[in-house]
Amino acid sequence: MFSTEEIGIDLGTANILIYSKSKGIVLNEPGVVAIDINTKKVVAVGAEAKEMIGKTPRNIVPIRPLKEGVIADYDVTAQMLKELLKRVSKKMGLSVRKPTVIVCTPTGSTAVERRAIHNAIASYGAKNIHIIEEPVAAAIGSDLPVDEPIANVIVDIGGGTAEVGIISFGGVVSSNSVRIGGDKLDEEIVQYVRKTYNIMIGERTAESVKMEIGYAYEDHEEQEMDIRGRDMVTGLPKTITISSQEIYSAIKESLERILEAIRATLETCPPELSGDIVDHGIVLTGGGALLKGMKDWLASEIDVPVHIAPNPLEAVAIGTGKAIKMISKLQKAAK
Ligand code: ADP
Ligand code: MG
Repeated sequence: MFSTEEIGIDLGTANILIYSKSKGIVLNEPGVVAIDINTKKVVAVGAEAKEMIGKTPRNIVPIRPLKEGVIADYDVTAQMLKELLKRVSKKMGLSVRKPTVIVCTPTGSTAVERRAIHNAIASYGAKNIHIIEEPVAAAIGSDLPVDEPIANVIVDIGGGTAEVGIISFGGVVSSNSVRIGGDKLDEEIVQYVRKTYNIMIGERTAESVKMEIGYAYEDHEEQEMDIRGRDMVTGLPKTITISSQEIYSAIKESLERILEAIRATLETCPPELSGDIVDHGIVLTGGGALLKGMKDWLASEIDVPVHIAPNPLEAVAIGTGKAIKMISKLQKAAK
């Protein structure tokens, strides 16, 4: 059967999710592509490619084409999207060859970047393509009443960026984006271990340390974890035990910068909407919302209620898909 499908794509810097109106989340893969630099061929996409990071022979290079929150490599992004759409099409057993696609872009992305995203999807054969702003998608996916004239505050902490958006009446009233997210925390952990222990660890190891014993505030019950890396003096593998306090000290500054971005956005909130924020608080989405203690730490710093979205990792994708029926309204609000 040849039915057209409506799908939403969350083109995240760490994870790409595809949501179908009829089936919900149909794909959730890391945004990683492994390329053979000799043949320029794509060898792997998604989880399989992420698994290769830090482990491949020289000719195979895993790339995260969206790492900095924008399309750094157009060709690779287009190939990745095509492959992922193909997988979805197979899995769903119906044609998504000419889908209506809604995709979200970070606030602050340029017209050129949006064009690049548009073209990458168009090259797959999508019939209608709409681009909406990420905070709006995150808010819809968190079940916030975005089309009402009240302030909905979203803080989306992804891999490459943290985005803060105040949404009212279907549009973004005020927003801020900093290029600090989970990746930056991982980098800080790599640097800390290198400086303190003279040991090089990989970014995947750093990420798992962050997820297991990373905390957003100092006053927590200390935990420890064994990690393996390469001793930079002897060149040999070495295992060390690292504590959650050490990890906290490594990521603290980056967390402060996310906090500053939230503060700065709240300060620009129109006074008529400020009261809503005190009443309703802010909603956290993105993988960064899952850092231990994030919610309580932010609540104590900014003094408004903080909630975590029901599905922080899926909120943007769900919201993008659900935005289809609101799109004309949203476009009116954007004008
Ligand atoms: P993006 O939208 O940029 O693709 P996501 O919202 O998918 O990003 O979030 C990915 C980021 O969230 C990664 O940096 C990942 O390490 C981080 N993350 C995921 N789960 C956790 C967790 N439990 N604790 C801390 N960070 C997490
Ligand atoms: Mg995201």
